[in-house]
Amino acid sequence: RLYNEVQDLKGNIRVYCRIRPFLPGQSKKQTTIEYIGENGELVVSNPSKQGKDTHRLFKFNKVFSPAATQEEVFLDTQPLIRSVLDGYNVCIFAYGQTGSGKTYTMSGPNVSSKEDWGVNYRALNDLFQISQTRKSSITYEVGVQMVEIYNEQLVFIIFTILLFQCVLCFFDLHTLGIWSTTQPNGLAVPEASMHSVKSTADVLELMNIGLMNRAVGATALNERSSRSHSVLTVHVRGTDLKTNSVLRGSLHLVDLAGSERVDRSEATGDRLREAQHINKSLSALGDVIFALAQKNAHVPYRNSKLTQVLQSSLGGQAKTLMFVQLNPDVESYSETISTLKFAERVS
Ligand code: ADP
Ligand code: MG
Repeated sequence: RLYNEVQDLKGNIRVYCRIRPFLPGQSKKQTTIEYIGENGELVVSNPSKQGKDTHRLFKFNKVFSPAATQEEVFLDTQPLIRSVLDGYNVCIFAYGQTGSGKTYTMSGPNVSSKEDWGVNYRALNDLFQISQTRKSSITYEVGVQMVEIYNEQLVFIIFTILLFQCVLCFFDLHTLGIWSTTQPNGLAVPEASMHSVKSTADVLELMNIGLMNRAVGATALNERSSRSHSVLTVHVRGTDLKTNSVLRGSLHLVDLAGSERVDRSEATGDRLREAQHINKSLSALGDVIFALAQKNAHVPYRNSKLTQVLQSSLGGQAKTLMFVQLNPDVESYSETISTLKFAERVS
């Protein structure tokens, strides 16, 4: 196993905290970030409140300061992603209030600039390049799929593509048919388009088509994106041509809905319904990860669509990474604390 890293004390769940910088025009704001330690310590405080006991300490596997680049963040994520090629199921998700940098971390602000790429583009690029160059008798096939979960429904199948990779120039298009559109957890997804690709450029082109479909398919999606979970899934199947054995791995990359509390007195109708669904699914996710961290016998996967979709990559041998995203702005202090409490419960 080439990419199996050393496991940490907490088993297969790790938590990275990332603090986004103040944006241009936000310069006069006060920060709630007091201290970032080398070993994952984070101290936050509310500068508008005076007095004792106003500082709180949290501990993570790692804290990325506002200066951390996309590349730095990816370097600490890469071993996990590569273990997919060894047959692991991996789930990486970003949690935090709207505006805290979830999409920045997972997708990046700008697809056309390679430096700006977030985890998902870098992951696909990396998996593709490795499966091309890795010296082994294993042939990899990679399927990619994007779905949105909105109001507890799997609504938006953005695309399914099939990437073909051959280390030994072994190409058999008939094996395409083996891929089923029914997921291992029994959730059926509608038929989507399939493509074979031969280069990273092909992969990116397809992802961009997916993103365009997304924009065309739902004009309201931009406003809605903070209220839906977006799940990019990469299925990998490796066939060892020497032994004829098959291994399967999967990678779920999840940009969660904003975790902010919605004022019950203000939200009505659709907005209230959305808020209730988000609340339900995020607490279900928290409950699942908490149960796994505690090594409970019962893990409550069935309490939300989100946890059902992610079931195969949470628990068991699966590896989970949560990015806890923070907005350092003093006005976000109470959301920051509730985000950190969510993370503390599962880490
Ligand atoms: P979310 O998806 O959590 O709602 P976004 O990823 O859209 O938040 O980020 C909000 C804004 O902050 C965007 O303009 C984004 O480009 C910017 N941003 C977030 N994280 C960073 C970062 N690490 N460096 C620079 N800008 C960032
Ligand atoms: Mg977003």
